[in-house]
Amino acid sequence: MHSGDIYEPAERLRLIHTHFLAPGGGGPRAERVARSTEPAAALRLEVYDHMRDTVTEAAALAKSLCDDQEPYEQPPAAVERVYEWLVAETDHLDERKQRNRDAVIYRQGLQHAILMGEADIIRRHPCPECVTWGLVWDRHREQVVCWNRHCADDDGQPTTWTLAQLAEDHIARKNRRAARAT
Ligand SMILES: [Zn+2]
Repeated sequence: MHSGDIYEPAERLRLIHTHFLAPGGGGPRAERVARSTEPAAALRLEVYDHMRDTVTEAAALAKSLCDDQEPYEQPPAAVERVYEWLVAETDHLDERKQRNRDAVIYRQGLQHAILMGEADIIRRHPCPECVTWGLVWDRHREQVVCWNRHCADDDGQPTTWTLAQLAEDHIARKNRRAARAT
């Protein structure tokens, strides 16, 4: 995997950490959070859970992809280095497993963006079914919706996707492009 592919998800983790969680650091937003009015406290907790789940999932993925072997190195303390670590632990594996890993990293990157209020990132992806640019994030149902009416089912219900499906489609497309280019 090219290191550029983990740059964006890692950078988002770094930003989330400095803006929401780092003690004393992080500028005005963290200041507001630190003063801990009720919604800010709730937000801080949500962010904390998000970071913890991110690292837990990465560590579990490294282990399961490597047939339950313990990692060569422990996950890094600096959360934004977790993808670097995950790739290093798994870069000897076959292509299918590495694609699997890449899709999880990409999906986590989408989740970081949504947490940061940048759900528009979903629009950068074509619909996996109709391949048009009508995707939006439904934050209440927490799913991706395609608004192309030709893509809807016979009852007119729009096609929906999970972030994992969107990430898998993205990685598959990318690998097909790379295969054509060589
Ligand atoms: Zn569609």
